[in-house]
Amino acid sequence: MTSASSADPRLAARLEAQIRNVPDFPSPGVLFRDITPLLRDAASFAEAVEAMAAPFEDAGIDAVAGIESRGFLFGPEIALRLRAGFVPLRKPGKLPVASIAEDYELEYGTATLEIHADALQTAQRVLIADDVIATGGTAHAAFRLCRRLGAEVVGFSFLLALLPLGGLARLESLGPPVRTVLEYS
Ligand code: AMP
Repeated sequence: MTSASSADPRLAARLEAQIRNVPDFPSPGVLFRDITPLLRDAASFAEAVEAMAAPFEDAGIDAVAGIESRGFLFGPEIALRLRAGFVPLRKPGKLPVASIAEDYELEYGTATLEIHADALQTAQRVLIADDVIATGGTAHAAFRLCRRLGAEVVGFSFLLALLPLGGLARLESLGPPVRTVLEYS
């Protein structure tokens, strides 16, 4: 049904076996990659976090910025692994004090991400994390938010990339390294 590749084919096979493909969710024509089986399997969850954090071990990361909602499932673990802080990038109206916002395009309509204005300091080194990169619109908005606060985006880390949607190539053109554990073609 699908094929995933990775720099480590055995790791890819183990993790791919724990990702459920759900056709026509949340809307017709979308093949949803459900990571909940991976999360409930202790060994797979640990391997996934380790693989997402490892490329940035020596990158001097100050903070991991996780994208709501599923970036909150991996970001804090990556942050602990890298001895970095965690910063949530949230959907509109959730943050209690002064925030900045970025709008971005979805397949149908637009969406918005927000960050507390005091969440990052100038020149702090930030890693942006999420579960899936599809079109890259969400991650690009996260990049703009971090940059507007003066932080340096040192990289992106995703569990999986959906290559036909083009987001990986789009993000790679921004400059910082983009690391994915699994790539679906
Ligand atoms: P995008 O902005 O298009 O890169 O979409 C990325 C966001 O949408 C991520 O936060 C993903 O969690 C979610 N997403 C998009 N497509 C899928 C998919 N096919 N399966 C699971 N999650 C997806």
